[in-house]
Amino acid sequence: MTESTKTVCPYCGVGCGLEVSPPAQLGKATHRDSHGNPIWRVRGDKAHPSSQGMVCVKGATIAESLDKNRLHYPMVRDSLDREFRRVSWDEAFDIIVNRIQTLRLTTGSEAICMYGSGQFQTEDYYMAQKLLKGCLGTNNFDANSRLCMSSAVAGYIQSFGSDGPPCCYEDLELTDCAFLIGTNTAECHPIIFNRLEKYHKKNRKVKVIVVDPRRTPTAEAADLHLAIRPGTDIDLLNGIAHLLMRWNYIDTAFIDDCTSNFPAYAEVIRHYPPEVVARQCGISVEDLETAARYWGQSNRVLSLWSMGVNQSSEGTAKVRTIINLHLMTGQIGKPGAGPFSLTGQPNAMGGREAGGLSHLLPGYRVVKNPQHRAEVEEFWGLKPGQISPNPGMTAWDMITGLENGNVGLVWVAATNPAVSMPDLERTKKALLRSPFTIYQDAYYPTETAAYAHVLLPAAQWSEKTGVMTNSERMVTLGPAFRQPPGEAKPDWEIFAEVGRRLGYHKEFAFANSAEVYAEFVKLTGDRPCDMTGISHQLLQQSPTQWPHPQERGIEEVESRLSRIPLQGKRLYTNLRFHTPDGRARFGAYHSRGLAEPPDPNYPFVLTTGRLYGHWHTQTRTGRIEKICQMHPEPFVEIHPRDAAKLGITDSQWVEVRSRRGKARFPAKVTKAIAPGTVFVPMHWGALWAENAEANALTHPESCPDSLQPELKACAVQLVPV
Ligand code: SF4
Repeated sequence: MTESTKTVCPYCGVGCGLEVSPPAQLGKATHRDSHGNPIWRVRGDKAHPSSQGMVCVKGATIAESLDKNRLHYPMVRDSLDREFRRVSWDEAFDIIVNRIQTLRLTTGSEAICMYGSGQFQTEDYYMAQKLLKGCLGTNNFDANSRLCMSSAVAGYIQSFGSDGPPCCYEDLELTDCAFLIGTNTAECHPIIFNRLEKYHKKNRKVKVIVVDPRRTPTAEAADLHLAIRPGTDIDLLNGIAHLLMRWNYIDTAFIDDCTSNFPAYAEVIRHYPPEVVARQCGISVEDLETAARYWGQSNRVLSLWSMGVNQSSEGTAKVRTIINLHLMTGQIGKPGAGPFSLTGQPNAMGGREAGGLSHLLPGYRVVKNPQHRAEVEEFWGLKPGQISPNPGMTAWDMITGLENGNVGLVWVAATNPAVSMPDLERTKKALLRSPFTIYQDAYYPTETAAYAHVLLPAAQWSEKTGVMTNSERMVTLGPAFRQPPGEAKPDWEIFAEVGRRLGYHKEFAFANSAEVYAEFVKLTGDRPCDMTGISHQLLQQSPTQWPHPQERGIEEVESRLSRIPLQGKRLYTNLRFHTPDGRARFGAYHSRGLAEPPDPNYPFVLTTGRLYGHWHTQTRTGRIEKICQMHPEPFVEIHPRDAAKLGITDSQWVEVRSRRGKARFPAKVTKAIAPGTVFVPMHWGALWAENAEANALTHPESCPDSLQPELKACAVQLVPV
């Protein structure tokens, strides 16, 4: 390859466009890593509509991670105390297929499960759904997106009748008031934040409100920072609604014409007067009133949220309570307004489209709906009733399934649960009990590889061609432009080969990923996420947003390329929703607080999160020098008042203990964290630091609707060491 390639960043849900140049093209200026290997040059793609040439440190340095610590060959071992031995793909496939066939004949397919990833391309996701939910007849496919944004999915479905963030990034530059709750956008979605910050600086009348117990870099840029107590989000949101109602900042015509269930909601918010709410949230009445005034006096309000809202035992209720504010003020379906969930993973959105959670089917369908099952069965050529009517195991169900012996085979791909799952000691014990674990990943070693019986080397970004959808529904093609190392294969090819060896030759007869994608988009026809007009061929010319039905085809993209400005597509501009009556539903929720509130024995609330440079469990970023220098070690943030009470000084080692485990960190004494709360970054697993795993402390209590665990908060005690 001699020319640069346009692709999409494989880290976060912002989905920035990248342009990658081969090392040889750079001549004398060739960059080299610390081992002297030439490094591909990466820069932002100025033509990409979502990122407009911007790129953060992760995207800019991605090429430095590509050749380090790669898994080259399939390997197997009979038990976890034995060494791995290299095998051919043939032998590895035989072992896997035999194991699957045996389980189908003995315990049934329900003993088989797969835990996938928002790092998958859509083609990988789709093949896995066809294999598990179609051919094997079990819905036991879940992804790490369960830990990331399943509350947003549930909230959108319950409020609007369908999943799908209704906004686009252009709204960041059209809003009068940006309301950011439970999102450290500056560090976790940096390019979205750059767009908002630039616009905010130019337009001082625009208000930015940030709700977060930490004074993050995002909060630093706000006009109003509400450092609420963890677990009081619904109090705050209902308190704002109470004031909007009291001050008559509500859109009665919109409520009457476009919504249902408002009386039940009005009855709930009556109980959230400002004095009570301010006390509960630990903020002043003035600040609460300012937030309500900013919201009520703005023509266009955009709310943004991510894990701080979703990772909660009342995550779906929180999402719906945010949406309620938009419904009561008519702030949806117009430029600069709407409830906008920011996805964490680069292709969590594509996973949702392809049915990549255990209660979903492709094309924004749900397992429980008989018509949806029948449509997919017919499309896949399966006999009626082949798809199980029962939602499959969620991520945490797989752990409990291993504990109680209901899981006979777990297949983990492109994710690292031995760092990212809650209650790690319990998670690891369960993984140790697994009768048969397949671990399919690009990298080796990882923490999870230690629990595998079979290792399958996966090709990764830059080595396989496939599609990802970002938070604003922008679909971008990521083409292969390098050879995978050793015998690594694209994930979708591995799933398809297992399907063929199980006897489903016709169902998995794909020559390339473009054919896989072409089949997948047919299943989105006449669905809210209609992508029937999108193909690899179209995406080679430009990224495109869905919905994009067949009839629009290539012309629209061509007109965009001829410099007609992109008009970002919004959902619900006609103010009709996907519910049976076409109305958006208010959800009426009282605040329940944290699943594990602090008490005299465990008096602090631990909250966890990400740092600007690192990505999740460091399988990539832990091998990039610049990022490791930026974030050399984990830490625990403690407020000076709490530190003084406990006699903790800056940099002193502190043991953080919860009911489930303990971990040690140097203290970072800072006013950036509210008193009574402590913060630990989640990136360090056992490979990177001893006893510094944030998830040794967290618990798996989950939202009853989304089944997303409350990774964001648990009760801890601090012991100086
Ligand atoms: Fe990649 Fe996200 Fe950074 Fe964009 S903001 S370059 S998608 S990590």
